[in-house]
Amino acid sequence: MGVFDRLVARSRRRSPWLFRLNSGGCNGCDIEFSACLAPRYDVEQTGALVVGSARHADILCVTGPVTRGARASLETIFAQIGEPKAVVAVGNCPASGDVFAGSPEIAGPLDRIVPVDVFIPGCPPRPGDIVAGIARAVAALPGKGAGNGKGNGIRKKMTGGARRA
Ligand code: SF4
Repeated sequence: MGVFDRLVARSRRRSPWLFRLNSGGCNGCDIEFSACLAPRYDVEQTGALVVGSARHADILCVTGPVTRGARASLETIFAQIGEPKAVVAVGNCPASGDVFAGSPEIAGPLDRIVPVDVFIPGCPPRPGDIVAGIARAVAALPGKGAGNGKGNGIRKKMTGGARRA
């Protein structure tokens, strides 16, 4: 890896840019994701930035179970993000479908459509867990190819969908 490539990799580690996609969820995970940006968790203090264009992003954060209607958008957005990139499944829905599992309108789970690097369990996950998941995705970025699609092994433990009280 040359000097320039090392500089780019270092910059990505210190300032990952995030793009969020709701692929058909109930918005519960999106509310918790938004809480990550508020002063209490303030993920942007770490250098992370939520951007409005997937073309500018390093990490794709997906909420929701991936409906049939959202599948094409997901594939387009995933293709727009340059390499190296990482995908984070936020909540139980993208991992297993959770309460939407079995519906004929669901095209997911997410890793059937795009490679997933990090699964963050919960319905919805707490903001601190989301921040930690994003940190794991950042660690997976340097030298990354198109994703190994293996995730972090959490999905199998999430069958049945643990929920917050
Ligand atoms: S995991 Fe739970 S909170 Fe998140 S989108 Fe699915 S049903 Fe809603």
